[in-house]
Amino acid sequence: MNFPGQGDKTPMSPLDRMEKRFSPAGMTRNRVRKAFSSLMWLISIRIDMAAKRTFDVIFAAILTVLLSPFWIVMLLCCGIERIPCIGKNGKVFEAINFPISQKTLPGRILNALKFPRFAALWNILKGEMSFIGPRASAPGELDLREGDSRRRLNVRPGLVCTFWVRRRVNIAFDSESVVDAEYVETHTIRGDVGILVRSIISAMYGNGSTAAPTGRVSILGIPIDNLTMDEAVKVILHRTEVKKQSRVSFVNADCANISWKNQEYMRTLVECDVVLADGIGMKLAGRMLKQNIRENVNGTDMFPRLCKGMEAEGKTMFLLGGRPEVPDAVAAWVAERYPNLKICGFQHGYYSADEEAAVIERINECQPDVLIVAFGAPRQEIWIKKHLEECGAKVAIGVGGLLDFYSGRIPRAPLWMRELGIEWVYRFIQEPGRLWKRYLVGNTIFMMRFLVKRGSGRKYRADVKGINNKCAL
Ligand code: UDP
Repeated sequence: MNFPGQGDKTPMSPLDRMEKRFSPAGMTRNRVRKAFSSLMWLISIRIDMAAKRTFDVIFAAILTVLLSPFWIVMLLCCGIERIPCIGKNGKVFEAINFPISQKTLPGRILNALKFPRFAALWNILKGEMSFIGPRASAPGELDLREGDSRRRLNVRPGLVCTFWVRRRVNIAFDSESVVDAEYVETHTIRGDVGILVRSIISAMYGNGSTAAPTGRVSILGIPIDNLTMDEAVKVILHRTEVKKQSRVSFVNADCANISWKNQEYMRTLVECDVVLADGIGMKLAGRMLKQNIRENVNGTDMFPRLCKGMEAEGKTMFLLGGRPEVPDAVAAWVAERYPNLKICGFQHGYYSADEEAAVIERINECQPDVLIVAFGAPRQEIWIKKHLEECGAKVAIGVGGLLDFYSGRIPRAPLWMRELGIEWVYRFIQEPGRLWKRYLVGNTIFMMRFLVKRGSGRKYRADVKGINNKCAL
């Protein structure tokens, strides 16, 4: 029976549908549809490119007018230098720069304000550069023949780019060519405005510091291994090969605050084999100490990289902690993406004290290469110290709320927030009742403690204990 408005249409069988689709009329219809969507795509790209160029010209013209008195002074005082660079489609052009000496104080201030870069407004007006785009590389600097590096030639080079922003907040974990290729593929005018705003804010965080020396940095008495993300993953993989069991911890501003009051936790961190700097607070503290933290080595960004490395080496992992069903979901997440990484077991973190011996026994039966412990700080670090030997794992890592993210229970902050160094704001908005003290009060206290301690000129506690300055690397 047909309902009103339905007519007497009967559903088409799959065979009829195929026949209709591949009939001459159907094929023509498909071709027209495809050509139309390609045309729309081309038009939208053209509109976007025109909008980007219009934005560049208007903004560069305004800045040139505003900065013209400075320009005249700079031209008279230092002249200009022309640096050959590779532009769009591989065309070589000369980028304009003010050669300001770093030797004098005004020179250092102008360099810190990135003033020499503003000379490139001329290149932007000429259409050789853009505000946002991959860094202008020198001829021969990059192999531009193929792959990700070649894609940067599709757009004009820029004054700032996503990689630059990420390096400032210490989250440039992927190579420059990968990040640039991602930009070339996905850029929009709205995205460019976002990058511009983020670059202005992230300029306050100081230089990206992957080139800073390795070695241990003491922050509020905690010995931090100054490693990059890649190095930290390598160190952990290496430690699964050696006989001695290892403990790995991530330390952020909140952990530093807890350790300030909790001596047991402090001792645990000082004795830990690898301690990694997590979050923007650590970067700022390192910067004030003039011992730059090289990268924000947080557990959440490390987890997929560690899984990848462990999968390649055929290692095993045990997941412990989180609410019931959380580690199960993470095990499924891992199985889908890293099928050759064996999750040898998992257990949620809400078991009773009576069940603890059985949990430890289960971990010991697996003898995992890596034991992930997600109880939150300081409980997880103290638990690892107490039970690692009985667990039989080669490496145990305290990861806090990491499993909540990969199980999908708690969404992670969008990339733009991470690029601003404000992931903590997102976490705070998710659970304000629980986290207001940790973030709003805790971050301020951390910075105050740090400034007072640094200003007092007294030695840090761990220095007094004579922490080993040898990095885990
Ligand atoms: N948790 C647990 N058992 C408990 C208490 C907490 O497994 O008895 C887990 C909790 O589910 C969460 C993690 O420990 O996944 C702590 O997360 P939090 O965000 O507090 O840690 P952070 O990353 O901030 O150190």
